[in-house]
Amino acid sequence: MHSLDRFAREKLAALERDALRRTIVETVPDDGIHVMRGGRQLVSFSSNDYLNLTQHPKVKEAAIDAIRRYGTGAGASRLITGNHPLLTQLEERLAQLKGTEAACVFGSGYLANTGIIPALIGEGDVVLVDELAHACLWAGARITSGNVLAFRHNDVGHAEQLLRQHRSAAGRAIIATDGIFSMDGDLAPLAELGNLAEAHDAWLLVDDAHGIGVVGGGRGAAFASPRQPDIQLHMGTLSKALGSYGGYVCASQPVIDLLKTRARTLIYSTALPPASAAAALAALDVIESEPEYCARPLANARAFASAAGLPKPDSPIVPIIVGDARDALEASDILEREGFLVVAIRPPTVPAGTARLRFAFTALHDKGDIARLADLVRTRILAHA
Ligand SMILES: *Cc1c(COP(=O)(O)O)cnc(C)c1O
Repeated sequence: MHSLDRFAREKLAALERDALRRTIVETVPDDGIHVMRGGRQLVSFSSNDYLNLTQHPKVKEAAIDAIRRYGTGAGASRLITGNHPLLTQLEERLAQLKGTEAACVFGSGYLANTGIIPALIGEGDVVLVDELAHACLWAGARITSGNVLAFRHNDVGHAEQLLRQHRSAAGRAIIATDGIFSMDGDLAPLAELGNLAEAHDAWLLVDDAHGIGVVGGGRGAAFASPRQPDIQLHMGTLSKALGSYGGYVCASQPVIDLLKTRARTLIYSTALPPASAAAALAALDVIESEPEYCARPLANARAFASAAGLPKPDSPIVPIIVGDARDALEASDILEREGFLVVAIRPPTVPAGTARLRFAFTALHDKGDIARLADLVRTRILAHA
């Protein structure tokens, strides 16, 4: 056997033993709520398409029109010839939504975070990252030559302690956090982090992948509390509530100008295709004109949590931490047998010993399905946890 094949097999066998091997299952997205998997129709509670905009007629139509007009691909990096007019429009609209001077659209959220942080942080600088922040914030921090420090989840006191220890020796400093945590659904203490950043001359980078479209009247996590926090870098994705694909960051004009000339994931990667930009623009039309619709995923999550006897969620994401990876798979199987798709989330996506079911609620989930799911969770999952 080739040594590479032997390596792959041994690695897979070890993962299999710990119930940590992942497999990719073909999923046909029917109407977005209902999906076909293994020949069965399931009601999905595992999609980040919170507003079901991937299936919205106006969003689809906008994408099709963009292909007719501009073609299927951007053809080059934005700095060469890939900067089609829809990207300019999209950046204006995102900056407006977040209340910043400017914005920059990237190929994906992952590319945004791995472009932004290394463009701003170098040797002798410091990056503080919430321990539960998304993998791509960690990836962005780790590819810098700065000093990368984890602070305990949502623990502003710990972040402050780290800044007291490390800030004065450092040149520049960034604090990076999710606005809404992707696997826990809780909100970061953004106002407090903003104050802390200001007190220590650090820059606050908030990843709002799960906030835009669904909290703060659709404007995101930064707008979810009465007092607006001081955030310099509003990052996010077009691939969740916006039903499209791509990433963005909203910031002041000089910061955006710098990122556009220095972020390697922008410079050395092809521009977002016209259809993706057009779909995101049409999604923003829906988000800006239908605030009641944007409030529905959270209302559905709260109805579920209340019926299942779980704490009131801050976002459309409701976790049930099971602990062991095998038990999480088993819990997911129980629900799947009853017609519900709730994918088990295992390490390394979440810390060891915190494997879980992650329920994601969307605007168009049926009230009866939610009630039935809550009932099952109460009697079949929580009763045995
Ligand atoms: C999904 C996600 C990303 C990555 O965004 P993509 O556009 O899918 O690459 C980044 N940050 C968080 C918090 C996410 O949940």
